[in-house]
Amino acid sequence: MRTGGNNTFYIHTFGCQMNHADSGIITALLQQEGYSPAESEDDAGIILLNTCAVREHAVDRIENYLQHLHGLKKRHKGLIVGVAGCVPQFQRQDMFSISPAIDFLAGPDTYRSLPLLIEQVRAGLKPAAVEFDSAETYEGIDPVRQGSISAFVPVMRGCNNMCAFCVVPFTRGRERSHPFSSVIGEVRQLVASGYREITLLGQNVNSYCDPEEGRNFAALLDAVSCEAPKQRIRFSTSHPKDISEALVRTIADRQNICNHVHLPVQSGSSRMLGLMNRGHSIEEYREKIALIREVIPGVVLTTDLIAGFCGEEEEDHQATLELLSDVRFDLAYMFFYSERPGTLAARTLEDDVPEAVKKRRLQEIIDLQNTISEELYQGTIGTVVEVLAESESKRSSQQLMGRTDTNRVVVFDREHFQAGERLHVLITSATSATLIGKPLHSGIHLS
Ligand code: SF4
Repeated sequence: MRTGGNNTFYIHTFGCQMNHADSGIITALLQQEGYSPAESEDDAGIILLNTCAVREHAVDRIENYLQHLHGLKKRHKGLIVGVAGCVPQFQRQDMFSISPAIDFLAGPDTYRSLPLLIEQVRAGLKPAAVEFDSAETYEGIDPVRQGSISAFVPVMRGCNNMCAFCVVPFTRGRERSHPFSSVIGEVRQLVASGYREITLLGQNVNSYCDPEEGRNFAALLDAVSCEAPKQRIRFSTSHPKDISEALVRTIADRQNICNHVHLPVQSGSSRMLGLMNRGHSIEEYREKIALIREVIPGVVLTTDLIAGFCGEEEEDHQATLELLSDVRFDLAYMFFYSERPGTLAARTLEDDVPEAVKKRRLQEIIDLQNTISEELYQGTIGTVVEVLAESESKRSSQQLMGRTDTNRVVVFDREHFQAGERLHVLITSATSATLIGKPLHSGIHLS
C-alpha cells in the first residue's frame, strides 16, 4: 500500500547538476499545487524520473529502472509514472514504446504543466508535453533544495553551440539567461538561509547574457561574489570560446570565487575539435589555459575528454595524451564515444573507430590521468588546506568529507566539527582522488 497517498511524489534524478537543480524546480511546482514529497518511492503515489540523454549508459539505466517500475505498478494500482527531462524531449512519443510503465512525458520546458499532466493521466489519457519554450527559465519559482550547505543556482538554460557528439541542443533548446536581478535576488535569499557555497549553473554558463541589460557572465559572477562575500562561489560548465580575460580577472580578484575552472576540451587534436564542431583549435585552448594560469595563481583545472570520436587516428589520440601531460589537469571526466541518435555526428559522420580501439585509447587516457592526479595529490602531503565540511564520510561516521576551494575532496577526522564549518586540515596522505588529513584547530566560523 502507498502509505503517502495519491498526491505524494518521489523524484528519481539521473544525470548532471542541471537535472538535480530542475528536480528542485519540479518539487516546488508540485508543492504549490498541493502535492507533497514522499520519503521513498514505496510511499509515493506518483514517481517521476528526471532523465539525462547525454550518455548511452544513462539511458540504459533509465530503461532498467522503468522495468522495475513496471513490476511495482502491477502491485500498486493507481501508481502514476512520469518521465521528465532530456530523454522524452528527445524521443517524444517513441518514449512510450520503451516501457508500458510510462503514463506521461514532460520535456525540460514544460514542468509548469505537470499538475495538468497528472490530472490527464487520472482521466485515462497518456499525455506528452515535449514542446520547446524558448522563453521558459522558471523565473519566479523558488526551487526546493536538498541539503543546507551547497546550493545550485541555474543562471541560463539551453545551448546555442552544436558540438557534433552532443544531444543538449536537441533536448534543452536555445540558450536563454535568467535576468541579472533575479539571480542576485536568489543569491540574497540563499545567504539569508545560511548556505555556505553557491554554484552558478548553465549548460554553457559563461555565455550568460542578461536579457535586460546585456551584462555578461564576468559581471554576474562579480556581483554574486559581492552579494555573498562569505560564501564560496563556483560555476559550471564553461565553454573554452567564452573564457574572456575579464572573466579570468574576476575569478582572480574576488577572493570568494573558487580557484577551480572546469574547462572541457574533449580532444587534444585540432583536427578532432574541427570534426566535433567545438568552435576552437587546440592552440586556442592552450592559450586560454595559459591565461588562466598566469592570472589566477594556484588555480586547479579539470576537463572532459572523449576517446575514439569519429575519424580519430592514432596521432589524434597521441595529441590528447600529450595535452594531458602538458596541462596536468587535476581530474578529467573520461568516456569513449558512443553515438547519440539525432546528433550532428550521427547524421553526418561515420562512427568508424572500432570499439576495442576506443576502449584501449580510453584506458591509456585514464591511466595517464590517474598517474598525474596521484602525483598532484601526493604533492599536497604536508600542506595545510582550507576545507568546507560537507557531510559524513562514506567510509566512517568518525570522519567528515569536505572540499578545498580548488574542489579537491578531503576526508578528515570528525573530532568536534560539523558539516557546514570551514577549517584548516593538514594533509597526511593521498590517493589519486582523495586527500586525507587531520584538522589543525577550531573551525573558521562564518557569521
Ligand atoms: S557546448 Fe557543446 S557539449 Fe556543451 S552543451 Fe553545448 S553542444 Fe553540448
